[in-house]
Amino acid sequence: CGIFGFYFYDVRHSHQEILNTLVDGLRRLEYRGYDSAGVSVDWPVQAEGELAPTARPVVIKAKGKVDDLVKLVSEEVKSFTFDAKACVKAHAGIAHTRWATHGPPCARNSHPHVSSPNHEFVVVHNGTITNFRALKEFLMKEGEVFESDTDTEVIPKLCKFLYSRLPEPIPFPQLVCEVVKQLEGAYALLIKSSVYPGELVACRRGSPLILGMKYGIQATATPRTPRSPNTPLTPKLSGTSTHGPQFFDNAAPAGQPNQPFGLELFLASEASAVVEHTKQVIYLEDNDIVHMAKGEYTVFNWSDVDSPSVEVRRTIQTLTMEV
Ligand code: GLU
Repeated sequence: CGIFGFYFYDVRHSHQEILNTLVDGLRRLEYRGYDSAGVSVDWPVQAEGELAPTARPVVIKAKGKVDDLVKLVSEEVKSFTFDAKACVKAHAGIAHTRWATHGPPCARNSHPHVSSPNHEFVVVHNGTITNFRALKEFLMKEGEVFESDTDTEVIPKLCKFLYSRLPEPIPFPQLVCEVVKQLEGAYALLIKSSVYPGELVACRRGSPLILGMKYGIQATATPRTPRSPNTPLTPKLSGTSTHGPQFFDNAAPAGQPNQPFGLELFLASEASAVVEHTKQVIYLEDNDIVHMAKGEYTVFNWSDVDSPSVEVRRTIQTLTMEV
């Protein structure tokens, strides 16, 4: 019943901070009601025989309250051999509170749902896929094995199915576009994938989804010119452009280029979960697909099943609500 996503690039956050941000986002959506909760993050895992740990998608989900999920997450953190306080410079994490529409509330039916065998695609979903039975039947005939009773599970399975049949790789948002064109019903989706590492795709139709953005500023060795009393402390985003990185009021000293740097993106079912991080948001429209990769985001939209998605500009709005 609520989704929350946290993407960042060129910003340092520890694994613990990533989890806290995701869980706090879920807590802000708790009042909407839910019966289970889950998260997916990338954790450094060092398999036997490997020289160094690599980031692997981890899925943790629980029936019950966000607190139950938090307990499970801390047990997982303890069982891992990495330092939860160690920082990463880029990450995409997704989280979900579920209000069951298909399949009873239980850990197995909780989101995120994944593709098999290796969690290549990880999905959280708000809404209902009305044609899931036909899709499930088709995918089962093609050899996909389902683990849940949900309508949602067809989505990661379909991502994997279409991806594995591509004659050559296509960009992540394009793949997602092909997938959502097969879906009937309502959805807000966050999709991460180990075959598109470091990227995140968000899209919606019928269910709400908001994208919030926050830019950082490079700390330079040269001291900045003193701020005049009228200069706002927070970076001001310019007008209606939706493309980052952008430049800020507190420019670098004369003769030196501005160095905008670092981007954090927040995705949520509603603004109240985003406002503690940023007031700059885009209310995504039906058939929008947001691609987040390498510190930038791009919004695409598709209008009918026979035409490809095209890049669109969406107005950045400033939230007036308080935290
Ligand atoms: N239809 C999905 C399910 O039953 C998603 C429900 C929701 O929006 O939380 O798992």
